[in-house]
Amino acid sequence: MTFKAIYIDKAEDQYQCRLTELQDSDLPAGEVTIDVEYSTLNYKDGLAITGASPVVRRFPMVPGIDFSGVVESGQHPDFQPGQRVLINGWGLGEKYWGGLAQKATVPGKWLLPVPENMSAYDVMAVGTAGYTAMLCVMALEKYGITPGSGPVLVTGANGGVGSFAIAFLAKLGYHVVASTGRTEEAERLQKLGAQEIVDRQTLSEPGRPLGKELWAAAIDTVGSHTLANVCASTIYGGVVAACGLAQGMDLPASVAPFILRGVTLTGIDSVMCPMPLRQTAWENIARLTDRIMLDNISMLIGMNDVIETAQQLLDGKVKGRVVVDVNRF
Ligand code: NDP
Repeated sequence: MTFKAIYIDKAEDQYQCRLTELQDSDLPAGEVTIDVEYSTLNYKDGLAITGASPVVRRFPMVPGIDFSGVVESGQHPDFQPGQRVLINGWGLGEKYWGGLAQKATVPGKWLLPVPENMSAYDVMAVGTAGYTAMLCVMALEKYGITPGSGPVLVTGANGGVGSFAIAFLAKLGYHVVASTGRTEEAERLQKLGAQEIVDRQTLSEPGRPLGKELWAAAIDTVGSHTLANVCASTIYGGVVAACGLAQGMDLPASVAPFILRGVTLTGIDSVMCPMPLRQTAWENIARLTDRIMLDNISMLIGMNDVIETAQQLLDGKVKGRVVVDVNRF
């Protein structure tokens, strides 16, 4: 039996990514075999597919940090053939073969059942970006932020994480301020629930250690000077959840917001996030997500479009989320 996959190889130091046909016997050994239905394109997949950054740790590699599908066979007591499952992170597409393929094998302990009121498409329309956004929202609430605390800033607003962060916060009753480099997309962001739009340039240059207190909390997908300025303008006792590095991996900040305003900076990792937190995140997602939200944020492509779209994603030309139907070409 054969299946199709996006396949990254590094022969004689030449980085190559192509759509190809593989044998079932090529699949790495794994506890549960899944007929994949949908995967997605995330920033990390863009880096893996283009080779722009060394996120792939083993070759050959099938990229795709998340997927949903149907259990074909396996030995895990919690997952029977025919059951719909989803998976995010755990090193898929980096250390282990990921979801941009018609078939995958994974350990059962990494799988979650698809929530009852969602389809295999829906969970990937949310995908790792939406799940990360929910982890950020949960982190803000863990440190005491409520809709009454004040405005919440979301940076990288037009990206996948940013779009879902806005939508979830708005649905929970927060006043959301969206920071974007694409202010012409203001209407889209308002539709998602943003009440104020700021140009990302106001945050992306080197700033002062402390600024005017503008927001009670923030979800930052951008890092670098932006994260430093976000912290500097957070109100006394506020909370900043940092999950991304779209501007840069550095953090050229001072300790002033932390020691003079008691600001909390909390880090978010979706990849190795413990299972109980994932389960809560997906329960919250299933409760808060609706059709309009998914349709406004996500678009669907087939496998033939994956490599080109990955480059567009890195070029900042994609809005929201890209879902990949792995059985469409
Ligand atoms: P996207 O590519 O969809 O969105 C990133 C957004 O960041 C862009 O849409 C753009 O928003 C903004 N942006 C891009 N370049 C710059 C720049 N130079 N300066 C400032 N803003 C910029 O990515 P995702 O939403 O999927 O992911 C966002 C970040 O979060 C990435 O860095 C990703 O690696 C990280 N991430 C981390 C996870 C974790 O577990 N910690 C999980 C998932 C993602 P706009 O046009 O609105 O300005």
